[in-house]
Amino acid sequence: MRLKHNCGLIGVHGSGNASRLAYMGLYALQHRGQESTGIVTSDGDCFHAFKAPGLVSETYEGEILTDLDGTLAIGHNRYSTTGSQRSSNIQPLVVDLRGKPLAIAHNGNLVNACELRNAMEMEGSIFQSTTDSELFVHLMARSKKKSLRSMIGAATGAVRGSYCLLLLSVDSVTALRDPNGFHPLCLGRNGDVIFVASESCGLDIVGASYEREIAPGEIVTVCGGEVTASRFAEADRLSMCVFELIYFSRPDSVVFGVSVDAVRKAFGRRLAREHPADADIVISVPDSSNAATLGYSQESGIPLEFGMIRNHYVGRTFIYPTSELRDYRVRIKYNPVKELLAGKRVVVVDDSIVRGTTSRKLMRMLRAVGAKEIHVRISSPPIRFPCFYGIDTPTREELIAAKSKVPEIARYLEVDTLGYLSVEGLLESTGLTPGDFCVACFTGDYPVGFTSEPKKFALERFGDFLV
Ligand code: SF4
Repeated sequence: MRLKHNCGLIGVHGSGNASRLAYMGLYALQHRGQESTGIVTSDGDCFHAFKAPGLVSETYEGEILTDLDGTLAIGHNRYSTTGSQRSSNIQPLVVDLRGKPLAIAHNGNLVNACELRNAMEMEGSIFQSTTDSELFVHLMARSKKKSLRSMIGAATGAVRGSYCLLLLSVDSVTALRDPNGFHPLCLGRNGDVIFVASESCGLDIVGASYEREIAPGEIVTVCGGEVTASRFAEADRLSMCVFELIYFSRPDSVVFGVSVDAVRKAFGRRLAREHPADADIVISVPDSSNAATLGYSQESGIPLEFGMIRNHYVGRTFIYPTSELRDYRVRIKYNPVKELLAGKRVVVVDDSIVRGTTSRKLMRMLRAVGAKEIHVRISSPPIRFPCFYGIDTPTREELIAAKSKVPEIARYLEVDTLGYLSVEGLLESTGLTPGDFCVACFTGDYPVGFTSEPKKFALERFGDFLV
């Protein structure tokens, strides 16, 4: 089991093919959310929208993109936790705000969503979804401000937590990033067409060049081909989600201004220095650990082998033979290469361990094909705390590192040794300022506080998690 992200964003301004470009951007950002997808376009007078559950490749059929007329578009891929897959939660949300259409797409999670929502409901507000994203439009509508920019300011002044937002009006695309800068958002350009994307891989696919990261606390509006940018807030501290670099973002992306691939290799090199191993080969748990594994191999001098193969064609609709055969879930996705592993002392590099159940099954598979020794190396520190800033994590009780020390985890995994990258090693390897990252899931030091555990509160209130 991996931690799961919950959204990818794309914005397009200034193209007669806006819907198709947004579609391509969402295609590249599919890894950030697979439950539902949506695009809203503006033709200068009115909006055209399509939203549906499912993958980008399976959803926009027939004439859908042709019917999404206009030169401006915003798109959203969403991951939701169990129970929150209701259609009213699919984004972008479209509302009428003082007689004009507005669409909003959100990546992140507000830690004061339940308090805000409860207060608004007591005052008579009616919500159409269980997403915290809807709070932004309520807060904007309630403000006494006149311009879109100042209404947004009123909303951002009331919320706490993580948010990258795209807003579409009939004639503009607005992008903003929370003052802590939890999740990435970047600007790109191809000629006169201006793009905003969660990661630069969403720009590459449409032939746009990466211009820059939208800064924490910055709001950027694109209107009539002009880009205007300003700061709406400064945070006491930055808290960029370090898991974007460890696992979430694609390795071909630039996020937080750095190459994800280069940083993951640096994690692997540092891991090799912190936790060397006497071994014959290094293998990766593909694909997200590949770059860190290469770094480990380069630093240690231990040869890299492709000892585990991932089946990329496992769909969500795979029919498991019986409930007793749940172990086959891992076997269907990964297969060890017996000829490479039999009789070998193997270093296995993975990016994280969440519950530990999948890792244990993988290690048993390696033993079953004859691996003589197994030395697991993890390119992140132990995950001991849940995330409340837009990443779906199990409860603290379910996190193996919250209840077990490293030697106990090694015994549970049935491996010879286990080593995790240290928090210092992780942060120093990014090449950025260590204090600018959130590491709360490792340390419990939550950079944006909350009065009650947001996920628990939301589950009690809605039977659902506000995402
Ligand atoms: S708690 Fe962990 S997963 Fe969540 S934002 Fe912080 S670093 Fe990222």
